Amino acid sequence: MNTGPHIPQERRLVTAIPGPKSQEIIKRRSEAVSASLGMAIPVVVTQAGGGVIVDIDGNSIIDMGAGIAVVSVGNSADRVVKNVIEQVQAFTHTCFMIAPYLGYIEVCEALNRLTPGTHKKKSVLLNSGAEAVENAVKIARAYTKRQAVIVFEHGYHGRTNLTMGMTAKNMPYKEGFGPFAGEIYRMPMAYPFRWTGERTKVTEQALDIVTHKIEKEIGAKNVAAIVIEPIQGEGGFIVPPKGFLPGLANFAKANGIVFVADEVQTGFGRTGNMFAIEDENVDADLVVTAKGIAGGFPLAGVTGRAEMLDSVHASGLGGTFGGNPVACAAALGAIATIEEENLVARANQIGKIMTDAMNAMAKKYSIIGEVRGRGAMQAFELVKPGTDEPNAEAVGAIIKFCQQNGVLILSAGTYGNVIRLLPPLVIPENLLNEALGIIDQAFASIS
Ligand SMILES: *Cc1c(COP(=O)(O)O)cnc(C)c1O
Repeated sequence: MNTGPHIPQERRLVTAIPGPKSQEIIKRRSEAVSASLGMAIPVVVTQAGGGVIVDIDGNSIIDMGAGIAVVSVGNSADRVVKNVIEQVQAFTHTCFMIAPYLGYIEVCEALNRLTPGTHKKKSVLLNSGAEAVENAVKIARAYTKRQAVIVFEHGYHGRTNLTMGMTAKNMPYKEGFGPFAGEIYRMPMAYPFRWTGERTKVTEQALDIVTHKIEKEIGAKNVAAIVIEPIQGEGGFIVPPKGFLPGLANFAKANGIVFVADEVQTGFGRTGNMFAIEDENVDADLVVTAKGIAGGFPLAGVTGRAEMLDSVHASGLGGTFGGNPVACAAALGAIATIEEENLVARANQIGKIMTDAMNAMAKKYSIIGEVRGRGAMQAFELVKPGTDEPNAEAVGAIIKFCQQNGVLILSAGTYGNVIRLLPPLVIPENLLNEALGIIDQAFASIS
């Protein structure tokens, strides 16, 4: 089954962005919706699929964000739609803890099969990335009977109380929302572009600091979990240097600490592997998934060593909606799409196209401090020319130029100075090239 996207794959501007109909509804948004919610592009969506989002004024905008790495298989992907329709007609909810159903079990089987490692694995399903991170911490604490949780600078793990505490960036995620949960300890991140030590020794130096701090300030025997994103997402697509993740995983293993890979943004083919930790064969005890798991439906999982998942007392985990049958049906459709359409390999092809274009831009425009990422998860870090100083203003100007020209791109980064590109893995190549061309024009327009 591959009938392709259900709407024309083209960039099409019929009004200025936002058009009059969008503006009208955005006014209603302001009246009805809490002002606390952000909005990357002020258009009202009526359709989306493949590599485009269509707004209510009829503009067709190239989607270089995939709803933050969620619709990797495309919006309303065929297999997702088919599974969801069948499920929604059969039943919509029983609560898996009240009366189980096959879809939940099949998603767990798929996660156990797809996550790296040959050890016996089990899974639990939740509603969101943050909820899954919280559950990974619960499992690690129950299993180890320890409390401390290690997280990293620039890390993002969600917006619930525990995960706010685990997230690094204060504004906008934490400001005014404390107090935060205890026993969370933040470590320096191996961030090559901003490493203040020796740039050739980032891995060794960072591992040295982290292990020293854990041993001297917390006590390794008190640590339940080390939780890290294999490539940091909201923090700015920070790719740790080779050896850093394996070094942490080895330290965890040697000290009875549960090593948790937060693959919420990097998972499901995004980085050119099914999971980003495969790149260095990192041995994770628990893998946290969400975003790309279900073609846009709210679903999340914790997958890992069976003895860890089974160490929690009966009824210790769960939730009313976790592993909703419609979301599970969607996930099975999304996973089938990734596997049958070879979207993991496609992520690498997309990555090659993006990095070729991005590196060419970096040669031309001095505000590009670094191009980095893996697979279909690539970013520019922007600086004031000739310095390392973050340049968030340029990010705003480039995003605006792109929007006005029908291309949706997203920002990221602790300093707000990163542009991240994470298109749907089904984006047609001509649209991808067209979007990269507009981004190039955006840089030219402010240079
Ligand atoms: C988005 C994200 C989360 C939180 O997921 P939600 O579904 O928004 O709760 C956690 N970890 C990472 C790495 C993320 O990118």
